[in-house]
Amino acid sequence: MSIPNVCLLMAMHAEARPVIDRLGLEEVSPPWPDWMPMRLYQRSRPTRVSLLLFGRDERFGVDLIGTQAATLAASQSVEHLRPDLVISAGTCGGFLLRGGAIGDVYLSEGDFVFHDRRVPLEGFHESSLGQYPSMDVRALAAALGLKTGVVTTGDALDALDACRERMEGAGASVKEMEAAAIAWVCSLAGVPMFAVKAVTDLVDGEHPTEAEFVQNLSLAVDRLAGSLDRVLRALSSEPPAGVAQ
Ligand code: SAH
Repeated sequence: MSIPNVCLLMAMHAEARPVIDRLGLEEVSPPWPDWMPMRLYQRSRPTRVSLLLFGRDERFGVDLIGTQAATLAASQSVEHLRPDLVISAGTCGGFLLRGGAIGDVYLSEGDFVFHDRRVPLEGFHESSLGQYPSMDVRALAAALGLKTGVVTTGDALDALDACRERMEGAGASVKEMEAAAIAWVCSLAGVPMFAVKAVTDLVDGEHPTEAEFVQNLSLAVDRLAGSLDRVLRALSSEPPAGVAQ
């Protein structure tokens, strides 16, 4: 398999920095209107890789995260970068129930589902669940020794009981805040898409999510950067790092 033009979509600067360094990307002037907050990092060799970082909320000095920024980022990347493949990359909550542990890296499996959209009206209920397909990367995950699991998305770091029920019903292994929005845009545009997510916290564990997230962020992003490098090498048939050609 060889995929020439890959676009990574990432929310937080702290998640993206090690990936930018590991993949050898350089910041370039983006093709979208300059009032949009997203930043672009690229390399053209050995394979074309673009990393779109959502940007910052300048009013509060924090990274833009969640489905709103994800939709804008996905739409602009598909329109201007014309990728053959989009990867939603970042950190996530994992589940003890599904054998998850801090630092695990998951590739997405099955459909992306929204766990926090509740509209009990015929048709709108199903529509608001999302259910957009992931590219089938189970063989790739097995080859790289990575886990696979269902990813669910919502716009909160915490989880209400209703969200927890929805996640359990969907068989979620991964809870995060962007992937289903990106999957929606990719399904409209007909661009294959999957997610690569590293676990910072355990949704059904005993510690408060915010504290666990901060404590484990650097371990998780380190694992994320290493795994993304291996995923991209496998997709482009490049040899693993350190192997002579
Ligand atoms: N307090 C943090 C905010 C991180 S928000 C800070 O500014 O440092 C969480 C981000 O990490 C989102 O982009 C989301 O996709 C991901 N994430 C990690 N763990 C998550 C969880 N348990 N629930 C939802 N999103 C999570």
